Amino acid sequence: MDNKKSYEIVKSTKSKRIRQSWNEYFMNIATVLAERSSCDRAYVGAVIVNRDNRIIATGYNGSVGSKTPQCDDIGHVMRDGHCIATLHAEINCIAYCAREGIPLKDSKIYVTHFPCLNCTKALIQSGITSIYYLDDYRMDDYAVELMKLNGIEAVKLPTGIATIPEQGL
Ligand SMILES: [Zn+2]
Ligand SMILES: [Zn+2]
Repeated sequence: MDNKKSYEIVKSTKSKRIRQSWNEYFMNIATVLAERSSCDRAYVGAVIVNRDNRIIATGYNGSVGSKTPQCDDIGHVMRDGHCIATLHAEINCIAYCAREGIPLKDSKIYVTHFPCLNCTKALIQSGITSIYYLDDYRMDDYAVELMKLNGIEAVKLPTGIATIPEQGL
């Protein structure tokens, strides 16, 4: 029988380019998502990735549901110095997974900003094991403590890996 293969390997003649790492890839996507935030008090984007490096949810800061007006259209709903209309990107991702029945156990999140305390609690409880973030401007020290206590890996990615949209207020 003729062993000759029907194909051959042809090396590329193009100059070798540097591929994005997984961290760059997912954080770049998170920064693009942040651009869709509809509350200009914080442009935040998040991507949840499973063990196979597949994206299972995306989210950004915005109003709840599809019928609530967006802050950028009608103004913020302020109480005690916080906009209470906005659902944070991380919770947005988690809630979507709850709605669609997507397990979050052992998944990781790429989020443009270090999570607030409430989001941290929800991330830990939902089974996320790693949190990658870019901006650590507002780090809640109790959120940091909870991550440590629960063995959650929190990794600040180097600035320059992706560009966060300029924040509003
Ligand atoms: Zn708002
Ligand atoms: Zn939050």
